[in-house]
Amino acid sequence: MIQLYIPLNFLGVLYREIKQSLVDLDRMFTLMDREREVADAPDAQPLQPGDAPAVRFENVHFAYDPARPILRGVSFEIPAGKTVAVVGPSGSGKSTLARLLFRFYDVQQGRVMIGGQDIRGVTQASVRQAIGIVPQDTVLFNDSVEYNIAYGRPGASHEEVAAAARAARIHDFIAGTPQGYATRVGERGLKLSGGEKQRVAIARTLLKDPPVLVFDEATSALDSANERAIQAELRSAARGKTTLLIAHRLSTVVDAHEILVLEAGEIIERGTHGQLLALGGRYARMWSMQQSQGAEALA
Ligand code: ATP
Repeated sequence: MIQLYIPLNFLGVLYREIKQSLVDLDRMFTLMDREREVADAPDAQPLQPGDAPAVRFENVHFAYDPARPILRGVSFEIPAGKTVAVVGPSGSGKSTLARLLFRFYDVQQGRVMIGGQDIRGVTQASVRQAIGIVPQDTVLFNDSVEYNIAYGRPGASHEEVAAAARAARIHDFIAGTPQGYATRVGERGLKLSGGEKQRVAIARTLLKDPPVLVFDEATSALDSANERAIQAELRSAARGKTTLLIAHRLSTVVDAHEILVLEAGEIIERGTHGQLLALGGRYARMWSMQQSQGAEALA
């Protein structure tokens, strides 16, 4: 009994940490089914996302702790196949939007819709299946790099894994290691840089090929050549997919269909890059600050 209890308790802690940082969620969900905060409705049907469903947040209110509201009446739509970016100070609620889209938690007011379906009415497994997340900081499993990429679609062939790695521009690096795709990575294996880990996460997501993407941009600054390359890979991964981009660098958001400026859980400005610059408000100030500081992270 004790022996069983300790690992489960450990997994519980791990699960909470992972959930917090949006890292490798699917695996932990499978392991910790019983720890979910939300449950499928008895009549829940699978989500029918189609190729690129629109995503809508309608008047969403949410608090982790009732005494401290985090999101206050947030409404926006990501039209099918478009990218909406969220910027704002640390703690303003950006990652919380992603957690709600993934249905880690249920909203307290309003609703979150994917393809016109309220995500509370469909199975969680189907919601998770429809969304691919490239987290800020990817934790790799202590396994081969092949396994780590193929995790995006269990059963994928080696050719499919390599094609995803090529598209994420990590193939040459992998092929250059003595054991190639069999190289062990993770805590007990080859240590990868932040940029390499993010590329593995992008390859995994490309292989999963979900209709909805969430990119939680890394706050830690990569060198600028690496950063530009990662941004190019993210852009090509997002093509044709409905994408929520949580951004810390404004250079990433310039082409977004709409940019939301979140502050203390409310959208204080919204529009395209050009519209927001013309508005001359918060975003415009952030932009000129970032221009003068170079490519430093905002958060
Ligand atoms: P960053 O840019 O630093 O990643 P963010 O805008 O993504 O910040 P969130 O992670 O959404 O911010 O967090 C919003 C607020 O909610 C923060 O004040 C945070 O402390 C709080 N918060 C986040 N997760 C929890 C939780 N599980 N329980 C209680 N409060 C939480």
